[in-house]
Amino acid sequence: MSELAKSHLLPTYARVNLAFERGEGAWLVATNGERYLDFTSGVAVNALGHAHPHLVAAITEQVKKLWHPSNLYGIPESERVAERLCAASFADVAFFCNSGAEAVECAIKMARKYQSASGKPERYRIITFDGAFHGRTLATLAAGGQKKYLDGFGPVVDGFDQMPFADLPATRKAIGPQTAAILIEPIMGEGGVRVVPPEFLRALRRLCDDNGLLLVFDEVQTGMGRTGELFAYQRCGVAPDVMALAKALGGGFPVGACLATNEAAKGMTTGTHGSTFGGNPLAMAAAAAVLDVMLADGFLDRVRRTSLILKQKLAEIKDRYPGVIVEIRGEGLLIGLRAVVPSTELVDELRNEKMITVAAGDNVVRLLPPLVVTEAEVSDAVGRLDRACARIACARQREREGALG
Ligand SMILES: *Cc1c(COP(=O)(O)O)cnc(C)c1O
Repeated sequence: MSELAKSHLLPTYARVNLAFERGEGAWLVATNGERYLDFTSGVAVNALGHAHPHLVAAITEQVKKLWHPSNLYGIPESERVAERLCAASFADVAFFCNSGAEAVECAIKMARKYQSASGKPERYRIITFDGAFHGRTLATLAAGGQKKYLDGFGPVVDGFDQMPFADLPATRKAIGPQTAAILIEPIMGEGGVRVVPPEFLRALRRLCDDNGLLLVFDEVQTGMGRTGELFAYQRCGVAPDVMALAKALGGGFPVGACLATNEAAKGMTTGTHGSTFGGNPLAMAAAAAVLDVMLADGFLDRVRRTSLILKQKLAEIKDRYPGVIVEIRGEGLLIGLRAVVPSTELVDELRNEKMITVAAGDNVVRLLPPLVVTEAEVSDAVGRLDRACARIACARQREREGALG
């Protein structure tokens, strides 16, 4: 019997039989001592890589002082992080929580409450899009609308209207007297690194303005530097009214946030929402340290430069192995390789090359290196990808020859 078969963990994850005990920058060290090049970053979480000295020092310092006084009292550390996130974005206010799903859940509640506080309580429905992923709570699952995740969990939470990807006429037609908001990821991460056209996001902004709706961006995966801007919305020239953040916000420490304008947040008065752990000083020390690094001069320039280099090299790989990879997608260091062979086969072959990546929808392999990845590590990664593709192409060639002979 394997180790995994004896596990006392709820078996909800399809885990690979590999575990890590240490990390440094873009490298992970497995329990057997082998070194892996990390092009997953804990699924877009460890944006500063592993054991970043500034993050380690900031958390260590806070651990000795105070972990958790609760939101019954003022938390100056959360005031400061909120102020910095708002200064760096469209937002006026922030609510802190502990995960992406909670951040989106807060955004959903805020959109409904906004309409209610505006004298339109009948407006509670939210328009969402096929292929979206917003989390695993009952409401965020309903927002994502993916059958495989909803199956067997009882009545689907009401209030979400799913549109085809980037379909403007359908979206316009779907707006009715009960519509409260439009919720979208600027780039669908789990859905296969599908980049929503900027003109579609701009059209959504106009639809929201014309119809009194809130525009909500789920930037849980795209936010915090991943696309080469601090937030993906900054690339397309439209700001949302509400934005959900999490993943990279704490650099590996669980922190989520829902950011909003004062107007959008006007219904969220005392007592309307809460979180026991949200915004505690330890989490805020992590988020503050992440902001220190990301907001420093040149950090995002470097992410954009690294992205260009990586994309150029990936284009060459795609040309060399048309039977393995058909398309390179994404922005910044949120990159998708749409595969011809099953994406999981490429993920497995890359793992054999001691490089870890993660599959997404639409038969895509996601490359999510830490934002601090060096040029040398990018070259190293592309070398590993080249060898993995070569092995797959070679195996396919042999299969074809076998079939002919
Ligand atoms: C990961 C993710 C979530 C859910 O975050 P959790 O922390 O797992 O709850 C929500 N939205 C998007 C876009 C994500 O990528």
